[in-house]
Amino acid sequence: MDKQTNNRLLENTFYYGPFEYPKGSGNWYQGKHESIITKELFDAVQQQMKNSQLVRRENIEFAFTKITKCGLCGSGISATEKFKKLKDGSYNRHVYYGCTKARDKNCKSGYISEEELIKQLQKLVDSLNFKKISVQDKIRSEIKRFKKFQVLATGKNDSIDLIDVDTRNYIKFLLKEGDDQEKRDLLTCLDCEIKLKNKKI
Ligand SMILES: [Zn+2]
Repeated sequence: MDKQTNNRLLENTFYYGPFEYPKGSGNWYQGKHESIITKELFDAVQQQMKNSQLVRRENIEFAFTKITKCGLCGSGISATEKFKKLKDGSYNRHVYYGCTKARDKNCKSGYISEEELIKQLQKLVDSLNFKKISVQDKIRSEIKRFKKFQVLATGKNDSIDLIDVDTRNYIKFLLKEGDDQEKRDLLTCLDCEIKLKNKKI
């Protein structure tokens, strides 16, 4: 049986007894046949499928989980998504990062919002000495590109030297405006590991 057929089978309540006919009508009948799987198993499988979808989503969507570790217990960091309903009916997306508590069930590390995390990262960038860390080629060429845009936009053809300030500004710009993939690439380039401790990095 291929995976799709398998999923369809497990989504169909007919297989554990009660069935709806016509589908969506709200008329439920008890099947006379013997259930192939029990209701308990059916529910467990549904939950499992939902969970695995959630996990996949987390891995794709969040920018800072991979390189961030809990500064208190050393566990990984996971992200959760919260949606806040606004007055006009639309939703505001908020991402919070917190300890997975894999190493310490009672870890008191707490949660930090993505906005706050980015703010702190930007502050951290200011205090880094870029002469000491090796900024890889990718960032350098990206900064050159960024600089060219700047020249086009301002009309000024100042020296396009890659100085510390540009590196800093570019990194801060990416942290705020880049997409998740760009943020991940950037942090991988910087070869840094973020430790989250008491809502501070
Ligand atoms: Zn922890």
